[in-house]
Amino acid sequence: MARDRINLESIRDAGIRRALAAAQRDGRLKDAEVETIIRAALADQADGRRLDDQEVADLLMIAKQSVTMSPRARNRIRQTILTEYTRHRIRDREMGRALRRALADGVLTRAELEEVVQGALDREQNAQGRNVILSPVEINDLLLLSKSVSDEFRRYILRVLLNHVPAQQPPVTKPTSKLLEMACRDKGGEYKVPVVILRDSTPTISADALPESDAEHDMTTVTYGSPAGKGEGATRLVSQSGGASYTHAGDRVLNVGRWPRVRRIMIRIEYGLGARSDAKVGYGRGTTDDDIRFGRVTMGFHEDCHRQVLTHFLRSNRLPQFGGDVGQSVNVFKKHCETYKEAVDKYFKRADKESGRLVDEVGYRRTEWLLHKF
Ligand SMILES: [Zn+2]
Repeated sequence: MARDRINLESIRDAGIRRALAAAQRDGRLKDAEVETIIRAALADQADGRRLDDQEVADLLMIAKQSVTMSPRARNRIRQTILTEYTRHRIRDREMGRALRRALADGVLTRAELEEVVQGALDREQNAQGRNVILSPVEINDLLLLSKSVSDEFRRYILRVLLNHVPAQQPPVTKPTSKLLEMACRDKGGEYKVPVVILRDSTPTISADALPESDAEHDMTTVTYGSPAGKGEGATRLVSQSGGASYTHAGDRVLNVGRWPRVRRIMIRIEYGLGARSDAKVGYGRGTTDDDIRFGRVTMGFHEDCHRQVLTHFLRSNRLPQFGGDVGQSVNVFKKHCETYKEAVDKYFKRADKESGRLVDEVGYRRTEWLLHKF
């Protein structure tokens, strides 16, 4: 049978922690034990509220992390927090009233939640005609609500928020031929790798329409990150690298004509069919609480975040260094070529991963979005 592994250390309120420790003795959270935990959270009455932020966070963590809690107990916790929000924290009066009405029987249904949310939208619609824009108070209230409802309800609230917050214009991409230069060296000497920002690509421009590279015949172009699909955006690192050319006498490398190097790195934002920079974002940056509060909810903003993370990565991580040299045996030299190629590959994959972690796996995380969309 499954056992709860809620980390006691992560619970900050002493009362809740004690109640949880007592409840965890047999590794399961029974309904009665959940009641005890809720009572412990409600016990002190500081500054006119029943729950402080820490207690709310603790209860949410327990509801989220417990694998043995019954759905009824989980609802009880959410209900306790919802009631608390309704009484003390929801600032929009109409929304507060509608929520109290909805919570009269202790359970919030999807239909009731929609009524509460729709109420806010209708009022705005009446006041402003077609343009339905939520006020900062309503935005805050909805963000607050989204914390204590089920995941399905949370996704619903997020969709409403994205559609009805005043959206800021996305940043405009300024193509530049030399955003920065990365200083590198190998046995052939010092050299610089320019980082270039390319024009955004749209479905009318071929995804492979890259600028002409230097006049090197064996130039290889490697693109990192998956291309933008329908309705999606993507920010990719494209690198142009050249292989080595050298002469040898017998088993020894005599002269290196061209050193294997990364010649140029490009950052390019792509928009798939039906996607535009001013379209609403689906996940990640653009969906965090602060992004929503400040109206940073467009795809252009999201992709710009990728670009910034990638740029920062390039600035703070040196490119791999090639270890081959004149005088080495051909085998050793070849081995260095392979190692170098692998290291470069790994370097860009790491950049891509970092970009995903910081930009896609925050707010409404991409992994969750892939399962449910909205
Ligand atoms: Zn992304």
